[in-house]
Amino acid sequence: MPVASALAPNQNTAFVLQVHYRLAAVYGSGLTYFHNLDPLSELVSSLLSHRTKNSQSAQAYHNLVAQFPSWQAVLEAPVAAVEAAISPCTWPEQKAPRLKQVLQEIHTRTGALSLEFLGELPVAAAREWLEQLPGVGPKTSAAVLSFSTLRARALPVDSHHFRVAVRLGIILEKIGEGKANRVLEQLLPDAFSAQDVYDHHQFLMRHGQKICHWRSPECRNCVLLDICPTGQLALLK
Ligand code: SF4
Repeated sequence: MPVASALAPNQNTAFVLQVHYRLAAVYGSGLTYFHNLDPLSELVSSLLSHRTKNSQSAQAYHNLVAQFPSWQAVLEAPVAAVEAAISPCTWPEQKAPRLKQVLQEIHTRTGALSLEFLGELPVAAAREWLEQLPGVGPKTSAAVLSFSTLRARALPVDSHHFRVAVRLGIILEKIGEGKANRVLEQLLPDAFSAQDVYDHHQFLMRHGQKICHWRSPECRNCVLLDICPTGQLALLK
């Protein structure tokens, strides 16, 4: 009896490259980074953004930096004051103590409130360091290293990116977003620069937002239709 393959049908670098260059033709390449924050500020921003609309987490972050002159001040502030500042984001009652816990942990481990030192480490080691912090998984560690001023070569995978990769048959849905992050990053060519990796994430994310919607993907308007197993199946219906 044949054993079903554990791999998704298009889990290979050649296919991923084909997707990359088709989407580059749509969205452009050498995209401008959307943030210019130092790595600790990027981490705070990422923690606030968890399951929150961008506009709400941006408002929460803005309130925080407007009301507290430094991350040290946030660390020393009563949790209620932090919670009030970040109230525009979801679950401020959980995120405020978590934020203070993360700041305390960083201070305890390094004696300072800065993550600039991560730029001196190999990316894998920097990600491992970050993922030992409470509430920090692969998506956040990659976001901190890629989106911050460190501009490191790390691939964040958000829910849009994950959905599009599953529909394209690059990964199986059952591996989940955490493991998907590592698999999708390993499929990128070694020759990809940090900018290429950032672009790749942006392509998949934007495609998920604009065309490959969670409900009713616009397959007939998609430049990937002829190579997408999900799109091809939809045509038969
Ligand atoms: S063809 Fe459809 S399912 Fe496939 S990537 Fe495009 S929009 Fe998504």
